Amino acid sequence: MLVPPPGPKARAIVDRDAMWTSTSYIKEYPLVIARGHGTMVEDVDGNRYLDFMAGIAVSSTGYGHPKVIAAIKDAADQFLHICGSDFYFEGMAALCERLAKLAPGTDKKRVFLTNSGAEAVDGAIKLARNSTGRAGLVAFKGAFHGRTYGAMSLTSSKARQHAGFGPLLPEVYHVPFGYCYRCEFGKQYPSCQLFCVAAIERDLFARQIDPADVAAIFVEPIQGEGGYVVPPADYLPALRALCDKYGILLVCDEIQCGIGRTGRMFASEHTGVVPDILLTAKGLGSGMPIGAIIARESIMHWKNGAHGSTFGGNPVCCAAALATLDVVEHELMANARAMGERLMAGVRRLADRHPTIGDIRGLGLMIGVEFVRDRETREPATDLVNALVQHAFGKGLLLLGCGRSTLRLAPPLIVDAVDIDTGLAIIDECLAALA
Ligand SMILES: *Cc1c(COP(=O)(O)O)cnc(C)c1O
Repeated sequence: MLVPPPGPKARAIVDRDAMWTSTSYIKEYPLVIARGHGTMVEDVDGNRYLDFMAGIAVSSTGYGHPKVIAAIKDAADQFLHICGSDFYFEGMAALCERLAKLAPGTDKKRVFLTNSGAEAVDGAIKLARNSTGRAGLVAFKGAFHGRTYGAMSLTSSKARQHAGFGPLLPEVYHVPFGYCYRCEFGKQYPSCQLFCVAAIERDLFARQIDPADVAAIFVEPIQGEGGYVVPPADYLPALRALCDKYGILLVCDEIQCGIGRTGRMFASEHTGVVPDILLTAKGLGSGMPIGAIIARESIMHWKNGAHGSTFGGNPVCCAAALATLDVVEHELMANARAMGERLMAGVRRLADRHPTIGDIRGLGLMIGVEFVRDRETREPATDLVNALVQHAFGKGLLLLGCGRSTLRLAPPLIVDAVDIDTGLAIIDECLAALA
């Protein structure tokens, strides 16, 4: 740290931003980035930070991977835009083919490209209703699917994301997620025998909506904004079975957990479950705005003109995504597994020394550390997580919370052992200072 952030240059930009930008932006802390390289971010005053949040799990290959940058420059040299909904170019066909072949399951798939995560979710709502002829949608408490009307209606992680925006999309039902540390039914895994999944059938389908009217169940294989919540290994398979029983589509929102973050290309692969529709975005373009709806061909057969996008599948973004997939597949998935293990082991050591750590969960480089005021009562330590994030920023580590009191650890997938150990040491120091 050259100057305590925000330094003078950062402060000027923060003030200007505060004058002109939408008041809805959250702005976690006054980080004003000038440039980034690998896992390091430099602010406008020359301070350098180690990044453990990857711009919310987006900068999968770091802040400018040479192969991704080269692909972007090369694509930009050819042409910046042609509406992929109306015309052809190789990158779009190549990316759709690549994603269709990467997605779990042997059935042939088709792919629709979007500009964002929410847009992939909204498109999937349309596709699910269109292909099933049913209207009902089931999503989970704590879920985050985005902020456009359809996606927001499925979202249920924070009430302020809905406040004052109603009416939302009708026919949406929220049920408890497989969040064992805070089971809404007061059960224990595994003796619960997945009571929460059985309850969908016994309560929701018996009392509120006939399963024959349900188009899809939308689920994050690992909840992101809701608290980096990893459900038990047999949870997704149980949802798959429920869907199969009633002809309901299973939509896996892998916008945060996909593209190598968990050490597999898609998090659902850890469970063997094949979704009917799979959604990706965040990490796909290394920061360039691109997402995708990947669906079985028997589902994605909507009529010509039924859905489209002016910018979706932009040629520069397609090139970034293809290069990202190359790097993730051949180099970074193995690194995510190895560094994920190192990070997990380190966090477990921290838990021995800091009794405020209540629960640790995660796969690969998607790790949640839930803080509590008391390990017995499990009362969420929301203020502590907020203070930790601010404190770490001052010490040159970029962190982000999620859920009510969970620290999310989602560094770029290129992190090395030195980065991991440095980050852990700073977190340890901050927790000691805040104790
Ligand atoms: C971030 C996120 C979204 C929304 O993506 P945007 O690009 O912000 O619209 C949807 N689902 C999940 C799981 C996410 O993490």
